[in-house]
Amino acid sequence: FGMKRKPFVGGNWKCNGKLSGVKELLAAFKGIGADPKSVDVAIFAPTLHIPAAQDCLAGDAAIQLGVQNMSKTGEGAFTGEVSAGQVADCGLKYVLVGHSERRSLYGETDEDCAAKTKADGSHGLTVVFCIGESLAERQSGKTTDVCEKQMKAVIPVISDWSKIVIAYEPVWAIGTGVVATPLQAQDTQYQVRRCIRDECGAEIADSVRIIYGGSANEKNCKAEADSVSELVTPQRSKLIHDMVIHPSTSDALGELPDVDGFLVGGASLKPTFTERIAPIA
Ligand code: PGA
Repeated sequence: FGMKRKPFVGGNWKCNGKLSGVKELLAAFKGIGADPKSVDVAIFAPTLHIPAAQDCLAGDAAIQLGVQNMSKTGEGAFTGEVSAGQVADCGLKYVLVGHSERRSLYGETDEDCAAKTKADGSHGLTVVFCIGESLAERQSGKTTDVCEKQMKAVIPVISDWSKIVIAYEPVWAIGTGVVATPLQAQDTQYQVRRCIRDECGAEIADSVRIIYGGSANEKNCKAEADSVSELVTPQRSKLIHDMVIHPSTSDALGELPDVDGFLVGGASLKPTFTERIAPIA
């Protein structure tokens, strides 16, 4: 992982499962022994399942909980919404903002995503802010532009960068089984960090965690490891070589310098999810 930064692994359960499943899965995850000093682990459970999840995880500091969405307003007459203050008051640490399913299925704009991030204000939640391009955008060479536009919409409202994690999730990789290659992930995340450096300076850019999401699972971890080894050959261009540090140890996607962890959807609904955490804990 981008060495200086603490890895972050999130499990996004989306709108899946029943109460009984929550208990079974968390019983499997519990006691993984991940040290919160060396890795942050968050499960984004369906909001209704949060109290049961809290019961299951009581006393296990290794796994934190978060919600998958929140209101851009505070408390008030906003039927169906959940505010940042309420999320924090219930003892949660994390919230996903701007997931591509929220953007595409529920019409959330860059402005909405910025307003939600701003709504966290003094509540102290860590916002996992999702960005990423569609297949058509990648195919027409617009990946960097799209990610920059999504970043530039939120950057002005961020007051505490220690409470932000950026999740790069190419839309074409989400739920499709088509995982980005290590080079695609590294290249895009390098550009996202470069954008943050341009806008906010080196200190923020070097400390913010940028994680990858989109069909990540414990199996393609191995496949990715093989293709990273392929990347790190002397014949590769200097640009790629510079981006892929320490050739001798680069045998996993997690070794890419700008990949600080993962946001895992489908694979986080299986007990094997924790195999992704074990190697980095
Ligand atoms: P996936 O979902 O791992 O099932 O592709 C990732 C996400 O949507 O966060």
